Amino acid sequence: MKTIDLRSDTVTRPSPAMRHAIAEAEVGDDVFGDDPTVKELERVATDLFQREASLFVPSGTMGNQICLKAHSQPGWELLCDRECHIVNYEVAGPVVHAGLLVNLLTTESGIITAAMVRDNIRPKNIHCPETRLVALENTHNRHGGTILPQDEVLKVREVCDEFGLVLHLDGARIWNAHVATGISLADLTRPFDSVSVCLSKGLGAPIGSLILGSAEFIEKCRRERKLFGGGMRQAGIIAAAGLYAVKNNIGRLAEDHANARLLAEGLDRLPAFDIDLTKVQTNIVIANLIGDLTPEPLLATLKDGGVLAVPFGPRRIRFVTHLDVNRVDCEEALKRIRSVLG
Ligand SMILES: *Cc1c(COP(=O)(O)O)cnc(C)c1O
Repeated sequence: MKTIDLRSDTVTRPSPAMRHAIAEAEVGDDVFGDDPTVKELERVATDLFQREASLFVPSGTMGNQICLKAHSQPGWELLCDRECHIVNYEVAGPVVHAGLLVNLLTTESGIITAAMVRDNIRPKNIHCPETRLVALENTHNRHGGTILPQDEVLKVREVCDEFGLVLHLDGARIWNAHVATGISLADLTRPFDSVSVCLSKGLGAPIGSLILGSAEFIEKCRRERKLFGGGMRQAGIIAAAGLYAVKNNIGRLAEDHANARLLAEGLDRLPAFDIDLTKVQTNIVIANLIGDLTPEPLLATLKDGGVLAVPFGPRRIRFVTHLDVNRVDCEEALKRIRSVLG
């Protein structure tokens, strides 16, 4: 029995065609600026997002952290959602790397509103830290792959302009927001001073992320990347996978979204789970556990039944659909879960 792995969209393995692209990649030393495949990937991304420049980095975490550091001075304050990746999964990066004070805002579905930003900007006087940055996340992982309403993002941008704040996007899954809404990647990300996007999530590349911004900002980031130890040599080997992913795997995310919907509706019918179906907007399904169930024993039971998911808080588990599970796999996963839960 083949295990159906729904832990994350990071578990995908490069397809034979992607491996072929990797094998054929032209390479050079990217720290010297000599790798044609890395340059091509950065050029394609720059076009796709209609930005001045982009930079290939090893991970989404490094992308976010380089951006935050390049924007800030120690002691500045960052506003972000309490559930954001930058705070929950990046090992205190904002304070360690950039010396940022973080103000965690409690939101509905990860949506930081313009009013919340305005209300949390501190007065300018000798007592207060300077509120200088805002970070948003789209789609929002811990809120279940939810999409930020673009009209609110635009309003947040206006407040940032009014108060001179920098606006960063953790767009690890911006591709999913793009496919689900039909809004172009350029339009979704234009309000932001900097953007970090992952190639290794739904797009199925094994490694790599990109950051995007102005030419001047990206030059600064290139230096920060070296400081982080993220300057890579014949990185065309991995950039080739990213190029393949961007060219071939964006549109098909719609299948992952349809599969997540199928899974969510099926799980919601079981007595063990309660799912807020309004929050299943892309490829993530968060299942709230009913009764005495707790994540670890339940996940062990599911694992024995051939389905993998992850704990997502004391009373929740998370399923993610991706390139390596199709509709039949999702139907089979539901069947197995039904059977092991009796
Ligand atoms: C996965 C993810 C990242 C980056 O993760 P890496 O594993 O470092 O590539 C950043 N933000 C969000 C919302 C993510 O889901």
